[in-house]
Amino acid sequence: MQAQTTMQAAEALQILRETQVVREGHFRLTSGLHTDLFLLCSLVQQFPHHTARLAQAMAEPFQSSGVQVVAGTAMGGIILAYEVARALGVRGVFAEKGPEGRMVLRRGFRLAPGERVLVVEDAVSTGGSIKKVIDVLRTQDAEVVGVAALVDRSGGQVDLGVPLRALITLTVPMWEPAACPMCRSGVPVVDPKDFTEAPPKSQPRPRDPA
Ligand SMILES: [Zn+2]
Repeated sequence: MQAQTTMQAAEALQILRETQVVREGHFRLTSGLHTDLFLLCSLVQQFPHHTARLAQAMAEPFQSSGVQVVAGTAMGGIILAYEVARALGVRGVFAEKGPEGRMVLRRGFRLAPGERVLVVEDAVSTGGSIKKVIDVLRTQDAEVVGVAALVDRSGGQVDLGVPLRALITLTVPMWEPAACPMCRSGVPVVDPKDFTEAPPKSQPRPRDPA
């Protein structure tokens, strides 16, 4: 794993390690590719103070972009999008899988034509699911100004067609199953969503005095 070493990325990585987000093993990603490192980003979102701090940093590059709505992607982007929306002082919605497996805006969420939308995701790998969200937002004539991610696992290589700003950029190896060295060695592959968890070590920080 190689990580960019800006102060912000180092701080963010420290938070992800502390909250046991960073996992090593043999994992099958949503895209079908295999990898030896997975980020269980939900774990950091147990902690509102960590999430708020990360979301503020994610919002920072888009402060002057005229963002009117933040759109998260279910499930991983819902809480982050809410906190990024708070940081930008705008409303937050989320897209989710519809009845036919396509990404949709449901629950009464609507965008006005021309509304400037920032898409928020926890981790971007191949960008496949993000592109589906961008497509659905554009069907409502929204203007997608960019994507804010906690982690870009592509080492900055993924092209979403809009600016992507990730707090942490990692170069994580990914393989087609046929080319995966761990498959070849007979290591069982795990769906990262199937983790059973020990109780978290990181405890919520007491509220600061007003
Ligand atoms: Zn494999």
